[in-house]
Amino acid sequence: MTAALSVLEKTFGYSAFRGQQADIIQTVIGGGDALVLMPTGGGKSLCYQIPSLVREGTGVVISPLIALMQDQVDALSAVGARAAFLNSTQNAEERRQVEAAFLAGELDLLYLAPERLRVSSTTDLLDRGTIALFAIDEAHCVSQWGHDFRPDYLQLSVLHERWPSVPRIALTATATEQTRREIAQRLDLTDASQFVSSFDRPNIQYRIESKAQPLQQLLSLIRGEHSGEAGIVYCLSRASVEKTAEFLMENGITALPYHAGLDTAVRSSNQSRFLREDGMVMVATIAFGMGIDKPDVRFVAHLDLPKSVEGYYQETGRAGRDGLPSTAWLAYGLQDVVQQRRMIDQSEGDLAHRRRMGAHLDAMLALCETVECRRVQLLGYFGQVSEACGNCDTCLSPPETWDGTVPAQKLLSTIVRLQRERNQRYGAGHLIDILLAKQTPRVTQYGHDSLSTWGIGQDISEQEWRGVVRQLLAQGLLAVEGEYGILAITDASSTVLSGSRKVMLRREAPKRSKAAKKAVAAQLPEVALPLFEALRAWRSAEALAQGVPAYIVFGDATLRGIAVTKPASLDELGTITGVGEKKLEQYGDALLGVVAAA
Ligand code: ADP
Ligand code: ZN
Repeated sequence: MTAALSVLEKTFGYSAFRGQQADIIQTVIGGGDALVLMPTGGGKSLCYQIPSLVREGTGVVISPLIALMQDQVDALSAVGARAAFLNSTQNAEERRQVEAAFLAGELDLLYLAPERLRVSSTTDLLDRGTIALFAIDEAHCVSQWGHDFRPDYLQLSVLHERWPSVPRIALTATATEQTRREIAQRLDLTDASQFVSSFDRPNIQYRIESKAQPLQQLLSLIRGEHSGEAGIVYCLSRASVEKTAEFLMENGITALPYHAGLDTAVRSSNQSRFLREDGMVMVATIAFGMGIDKPDVRFVAHLDLPKSVEGYYQETGRAGRDGLPSTAWLAYGLQDVVQQRRMIDQSEGDLAHRRRMGAHLDAMLALCETVECRRVQLLGYFGQVSEACGNCDTCLSPPETWDGTVPAQKLLSTIVRLQRERNQRYGAGHLIDILLAKQTPRVTQYGHDSLSTWGIGQDISEQEWRGVVRQLLAQGLLAVEGEYGILAITDASSTVLSGSRKVMLRREAPKRSKAAKKAVAAQLPEVALPLFEALRAWRSAEALAQGVPAYIVFGDATLRGIAVTKPASLDELGTITGVGEKKLEQYGDALLGVVAAA
């Protein structure tokens, strides 16, 4: 372990292991197999990188993310580790050079796409070199029922059969018990030590608000708290991706679109700009994100309701991998609920499939409507018990609840009357018009102003009514039917109508959260700001000159450390987190120059 600690300090410039890193690394260095479940940003990479550097031979990393291999290799080279990859993007000559380096024992790490292992030339090559370990990244790709399934992962059990004495470490950020069992079984890792970390991401502030003017709400989030910082905005459809990106551009924010309908070249250029340039906002469908290692994504915003809590947690987890304060923000409204229920009703799958999708949506709605701590609810979903976190909207600014029984009865009885007396069924908009006594053409046409519930809901606003409908849907006291979003009562509604069940609702239009955070830069003491900005400018220029993402030069945490402590010597600079020996030698003088000039 002394060797591992020394690599941690000298190569990576970090002073201590995080969480279970030390135990995992010790297991693998000792030749044992490990199955590692750690949330995004937890620090999985070091768990195989350090054993690869300490053990004799090359650590072979299996990863499905070909597009990101170059960045991973660049990041390792930047700290002085010898790394390379073999994948389909290379020509024969490039491959030959990598193979020669591997055989000569000149590589600490070798990244391979899983399909390479199908080819006998690759397995023969591995036979002829010395392998320190096998790391199987994104191990949940072996799970056939998961959404990231890769058939090539199934044959990774060959690793153990062919090289039984080489330790294997499988890593994933996917949390559920079932996936874990499936990984262990399919990869022949049932005897491996399992390391399951807490899935909490304490630096992410979770906030969910109701949709009024979503684009304006998004704009004020970015301008107010994250101006000039990198973020991801998720939308459900390609059209809304385009529209949102345009809107942000018109408002002076550098935003790029990303969805499956774009040309591959445009997509990969947008992805690479997002990774390389500072402060880009990526507006994307969920097609974007797996394996994106960018550590300084400061916010993840959802403009549409995600389909499941798993998806939501994975997407929001892309914020703040560097451990600095970040925001996960979601706006959702009645329309989201109606639309998703409709999509489930009309989906192709069998009844069991629709039930499963319905259960996913219910869990997501419960998270949105909870008056308890969001984090307690989220972690609870993954089977972890926790205390109120103090860093989510409901903790920072507890929502008021109110007794919505009477409004619920008014709405439900309007539905019942229309159906019983006139055999008519409507969506939320018209029902609310009736409750608010709005003389619309449809009201006149059908004489709805003679209903006994006409105008009995004028004590609350239209926006509040939409909130009532949404929350009744979430609580299962209302159902959506058919293609037009018709509202219908449910079995449970009768207990409300009879007065035997009370309906508690969350108050709409929540106050702004008291502790609305500021951009990371703005959280620095004011005196440190000019230096931080100067360091950022230096970093941008350096990254541009080398053609690598800015974070490969240094992460924000390192620049903050320098801005606050103002090191005056190389020795002092070397104590700052993220400054290892190679970077100290390469950049030390330049950095001291920036510090002295500020
Ligand atoms: P994961 O792959 O689990 O999402 P990474 O391996 O990318 O996470 O690590 C996330 C961030 O945390 C990276 O910027 C990494 O350099 C940093 N990190 C990891 N381990 C440590 C540590 N022991 N001390 C300081 N920073 C660390
Ligand atoms: Zn909380």
